[in-house]
Amino acid sequence: MRDATLQLRSLMGAWRPVYARRLALHATAEAVVMAAWRADVRRLDLASAVTAWRAAVGEAAEPQDVHRQQSAAGAALAVLTARPWRRTRGALVLAARRAHRAGWAAGHRLTGGSHVDDDGPLPGQLVLGAPEMSDDTADATAAATLAAALGATAWRSGRAMADSADDPQRDAEEVLDAGLDMALAADVAVSAAYGAGLLSAYLGAGAGSVLWLTAGDGRVCERCASAEAGGPYNLLASPRLPQHPRCRCVLAPA
Ligand SMILES: [Zn+2]
Repeated sequence: MRDATLQLRSLMGAWRPVYARRLALHATAEAVVMAAWRADVRRLDLASAVTAWRAAVGEAAEPQDVHRQQSAAGAALAVLTARPWRRTRGALVLAARRAHRAGWAAGHRLTGGSHVDDDGPLPGQLVLGAPEMSDDTADATAAATLAAALGATAWRSGRAMADSADDPQRDAEEVLDAGLDMALAADVAVSAAYGAGLLSAYLGAGAGSVLWLTAGDGRVCERCASAEAGGPYNLLASPRLPQHPRCRCVLAPA
């Protein structure tokens, strides 16, 4: 049996536009989510977090002390989770819905369905194999993604606060402005929604099994390579996209 990456190469004619669209999907989602994030953090300051942290640890402990970092992360998280994050949450809902629909459209084409526009009007019924992510799933995806991003951001800004040489508040707030963890969490959410859309299309087309396909180049990690080697998988029991942030893998009908 040919290995899945070879199969991917032989299907390059079909896969090249799928990859290109997926890259564009991720880039657009990241731009939209990060614009929302920056708007949401604009008036957020960590003065109260720094005050709470200083009160908790005092000035005696050594820099780099893990308890200082934990305490700072906890103080930052309390400030972050008190915010509504309305714009970011809304952007995540849109990104997840759009990714699901794009995954479904790609899967639909790959299983021989007629062309469907990624953004065009689609039937609204929410059935097995449907193009649309349900409102509940989109809301839950946004909430989980935001919670993951805030947790990771609190740790990162807590470390910056605890390790700061001269201005803990400024250093911790720079972490918020950069939003690295939000970008990674959004990437994961987009991949997961895209993968769910692909599976939904395959389910709708009656496909029984799928192959995990890596990008097949030198940057493929062990985890994704072994997911590829383990296929084909039952449609409902396959590993789920993504294996990690910035995962480029796809699921193909076997
Ligand atoms: Zn991967």
